[in-house]
Amino acid sequence: MYLSKFYLPLMKETPAEAQIASHRFMLRAGMVRQESAGIYSWLPLGHRVLKKIEQIVREEQDRAGAVEMLMPTIQSADLWKESERYDAYGKEMLRITDRHGREMLYGPTNEEMITAIFRSGVRSYKELPKMLYHIQWKFRDEVRPRFGVMRGREFLMKDTYSFDLTADAARQSYYKMFIAYLRTFARMGLRSIPMKAETGPIGGDLSHEFIVLAETGESEVFCHRDLLRKTMPPANVDFDGNLESYVNEHTSLYAATEEMHDKEAFEKIPEEARVSARGIEVGHIFFFGTKYSKAMKANVLGAEGKEVPVEMGSYGIGVSRLTGALIEAYHDEQGCKWPVPVAPFHVGLLNLKVGDEKIDAACAGIYRQLEAAGVEVLYDDTRARPGEKFARMDLIGLPWQITIGPRGLGNGLAEVKNRHTGQKQELPLQEAVGFVTRQVKDALKVV
Ligand code: ATP
Ligand code: MG
Repeated sequence: MYLSKFYLPLMKETPAEAQIASHRFMLRAGMVRQESAGIYSWLPLGHRVLKKIEQIVREEQDRAGAVEMLMPTIQSADLWKESERYDAYGKEMLRITDRHGREMLYGPTNEEMITAIFRSGVRSYKELPKMLYHIQWKFRDEVRPRFGVMRGREFLMKDTYSFDLTADAARQSYYKMFIAYLRTFARMGLRSIPMKAETGPIGGDLSHEFIVLAETGESEVFCHRDLLRKTMPPANVDFDGNLESYVNEHTSLYAATEEMHDKEAFEKIPEEARVSARGIEVGHIFFFGTKYSKAMKANVLGAEGKEVPVEMGSYGIGVSRLTGALIEAYHDEQGCKWPVPVAPFHVGLLNLKVGDEKIDAACAGIYRQLEAAGVEVLYDDTRARPGEKFARMDLIGLPWQITIGPRGLGNGLAEVKNRHTGQKQELPLQEAVGFVTRQVKDALKVV
């Protein structure tokens, strides 16, 4: 992409309402624009990040055996009356009346709709298990939308729903999502810690919030230090095999959010291994049994020919919130520092003297070669001053920068900068292309 053709409306001043780094940088780097409280337009740069996050989420859902679909944003109130959540949901639900006076709503989540879809399409236990998901905008009229996309009113969520014959079988579905979540966040460069969460009236141990530690997180969390060193399960996990060991590996040490905190248990951990910190909830998985299937009569014929309500779970990921969480994890004073797998572009190419035939030709050549190798480049071909170009690239935070200017090119050299480490090196043009291509490809490998 040539910057002269792109749309990148940067802000010079730090917006007063933005209290945390991610909110500040998303506005300053022209990633989003607030349209109303908690409602954002995703400008081209932000949109590219959102799509990358979404794609990683999708790949890991597919790997775990979930099947993608798409439900509408607008739902009929009737379904919610069946489950008795229409009144219970309260003011967070945006209620709408259509021209015929019918009660509608902008979906805050999809348990009711998916249950209705399931009951109209599945009759027998032989068709189980099933896992269905979609990635769709949700609306919750949050009391205090804040921190930009972290707590929006309109936000993008991936939500999966599992259907099993027995509670035991549902545990396997739950474990599949547990592992998919660890992999999803790790692939983006985030260390997520599954923490025990409230299970509501059904009890049990099958609810976890996936937390990314960050000083600006809204949740207060407590965990064992060694959880910060765990690695993600590999891509070749057999999702139909025994998943217990992977789950145990990540749940045997203490980890809980404030609501579930057990002070006594926490204090049994040696002092130096106790972590009390703040965190961002990026995902939440939940087994709720027959709560909706009973209320909405989503039954299947069991092996003995008797109808039984199906056992369900739901599994959410905050796709748009992750954009903010990633910046909280990766930034410095100058701006964002995107990990390669979620970077809006992999490389920023800076031409320090637009109009100089040799430099223009060298840049155009590098641009073509990188793009041909599958490396995404944002080429700054504008006539801005060098200082402005450097600051702009640092702000938007592409992981690699290649700079071509009169001084270096005189000796056939380009400057390559790693935005994460700040390290710079001068390399002959072809080597620069090869080096950056290898670095990007390595970082994109899925293991
Ligand atoms: P929270 O406690 O943060 O309000 P929740 O328990 O209401 O979250 P879920 O209903 O489990 O969240 O939604 C699944 C995921 O969607 C959450 O883990 C979070 O990442 C994301 N999410 C929830 N509410 C918002 C919001 N207002 N803005 C952005 N993302 C959100
Ligand atoms: Mg909420």
